[in-house]
Formats: sequence, structure tokens, C-alpha cells
Amino acid sequence: MYIHIPFCRSKCLYCDFNSFPYREDDAAAYTEALLRELYAYQERYGFMYKTVFIGGGTPTVINYMLVGKIIEKLAPRVKAGAEISIESNPGTVTLDTLKYYRSLGINRLSIGLQAWQEGLLRELGRIHTQEDFLNAYYWARKSGFNNISIDLIFALPNQTSDMWKETLDKVISLGVDHISCYSLMLEEGTRLYELYKEGKVQLPDEELDREMYGMAVDILDYSGYSQYEISNFARRGMECKHNLIYWRNEEYIGIGAGSHSKLEGVRFWNYKDINRYIDLVTEGKLPVEGQEELSSGEDMWETIFLALRLNEGLDLAGFAGKYGVDFEAKYGSRIKKLEDQGLVFIESGRLKLTDKGRDLSNSVFIEFR
Ligand code: SF4
Repeated sequence: MYIHIPFCRSKCLYCDFNSFPYREDDAAAYTEALLRELYAYQERYGFMYKTVFIGGGTPTVINYMLVGKIIEKLAPRVKAGAEISIESNPGTVTLDTLKYYRSLGINRLSIGLQAWQEGLLRELGRIHTQEDFLNAYYWARKSGFNNISIDLIFALPNQTSDMWKETLDKVISLGVDHISCYSLMLEEGTRLYELYKEGKVQLPDEELDREMYGMAVDILDYSGYSQYEISNFARRGMECKHNLIYWRNEEYIGIGAGSHSKLEGVRFWNYKDINRYIDLVTEGKLPVEGQEELSSGEDMWETIFLALRLNEGLDLAGFAGKYGVDFEAKYGSRIKKLEDQGLVFIESGRLKLTDKGRDLSNSVFIEFR
């Protein structure tokens, strides 16, 4: 179960997520709509959820009692021992709110730090300082969170390799449990994109981007974080169970504006606009904007490229069991070509990317399209 909270205190310059400036009234009306949508799914399917992820936006920007309402409604439908995550931004949490989230049974906290240096944070339009981050982290530990993930971005404008190394070192020195490292994506429609087009900011070139990625892989490996997905690293047993559901191409429900779901071979998505979302749900309708039935070929392709993102790779016997297709017979020549290029290998019945393949993952994925 993914729950989208589309509010942030202000918009970061690089962000194209479905998020809007926070207003208390909007958040209250939106939460009521979320509860109705949740109820609709519970009535229709009666699922028991093995993971819950409250994401955004910034879920911790809304009144913490609204988060309480959502969890209270969901609680009877959450399996015992489920991973329940909430995303947060430093500067939007306090010791008391974190204690409250923990008391609700939320057991995993994701903190968006992105970069360590104050200058970079300001240039990205982040609302927080280093100190806000450190406070959030220590308060989270004090509140009993023993599963904390930190989000980082590399290949930022004006970011040097030394800055990136310092960011990694600081986060590692805290002993966090999980680290996500994504390369900056320049998205059309963002303020950063405009600044780039106007020649006011410059981005690191591809070589520096790959150098920074390689640094993350090496430094995190050396520091006891095992890479389990192209962009994700964790201490043993601290992998994000919720995201593993996506990468293993399992089923999920997403509620809230703009959320996506995949159920019974159909992918469907909600309207992004908050008011439209609220109006439809209030009228007793599902706020679904569109859907597509996944053909077996489409589903196979998704299973392949998502599995290859994971270091565990694609389980060839599992693939045959699910689709009735012998993977090696179907894709033999392509596997051979990629093996010859040093991009993939087969080990213990699983197709995996090599380090080089991980660097050039998109060109591997496209071979199975
Ligand atoms: S906090 Fe996250 S979701 Fe909100 S504007 Fe910044 S990047 Fe986007």
C-alpha cells in the first residue's frame, strides 16, 4: 500500500513530483478523501498489506494527527510485522512528532538529506540545513526508529567529487541503516531546467556523474552497505521491503493524487490534481484517470528489467514458472551478446548485471524489450 501526500513546504528547484505548497485546509480535506479511497479498496478487496509506504511530497509537513487518522484506519488491514515507512524532510519533524509516528507503529523513517553542504542545499531550494538534518536524525533514533534511510542525490550543479565524498562520509559516520543514491535527473518543467536552459547553471558531465556513482558503490561497500539495487544500499537485513515489491514486479495499490496501482494484470493511476481527486472521491467515485491492461509480453519485459535492477537478478526458474517461457531459449542470442560485452552473467540460475552492466543498465534493459 502506497499513500501519497502531495504537499511540501516549498518546491525544490529540481523536483517534478506531484507536490504542491502546503495549506492546512487542503491537507485536512485531502486526508478525508484518502480515508474514503482506502475504505473503497478495503470494501472491494479486503487485502492485508505486507508493507505500507507513506510518501510524497512531504508527509511530515501535514499535521501529525492526520497521519494518525490514516494509520488508524489502515491498521486492521496491516499484517503483523509489516514494514511501515514514512518519508520526511528535516525541518518538518520534531522529537514529539517522531515519537508520535513511532507510537502509531511506523517503523521505518526515510529522511531526505540530498546533500551535506549548506551551499548545495540552498541552491537546490531545500528548506533545511545540516543542523535540521542532524536534529531530525538524532530525534528519530531517540524516538525508537531503528530503521532509518537517507536519500542522497549526486551529479548536482556545482558539486565536486570531494563534496560527494564528504556527504557519503557524514551519513556513514552516523550509522544509518539504508542509503539511496540517485543521479540528478533534469526534468522539463522544473525551475532547475529553466535555469539550465538560460545558461545559469551547469551540470556535471557524464564522466563525473559515473565517477560519483562509482565512488558511492565503492565507499558504501567498504563501509558495510551492500548494494542490493542499482541506486540502493543497506546494512544486512535493512533492505526496503516495500520497494522490493515494485522491483519484483508484484502487485500494489497506490492511493492519493497521482498514485499508481498494479492489480490483476492492470496498471491504473489516479488524477494528479488534488481538487479533482478530492471531488471524485467525495462523490463516491474512484479517482482513476487511466488504466492499461498489461499484455503478457509487457509484463515479462517489466519483470526482466526490474529484476535486473536488483543485485539478486532475475530468477530464471521463477520466470519460467510465471510465464511458461524458457528464458534462456527465448533470449539466448541476446544473453550471449551481453555476456560477450561483459554486461551480464548467469549465476545459480539467475541472470545478473555485472558492475559494468549496472553502469550501462539502460542499454542492457533495451535488449529484452
Ligand atoms: S521535498 Fe521532495 S517532493 Fe517536496 S519539493 Fe522537494 S524534492 Fe519535491
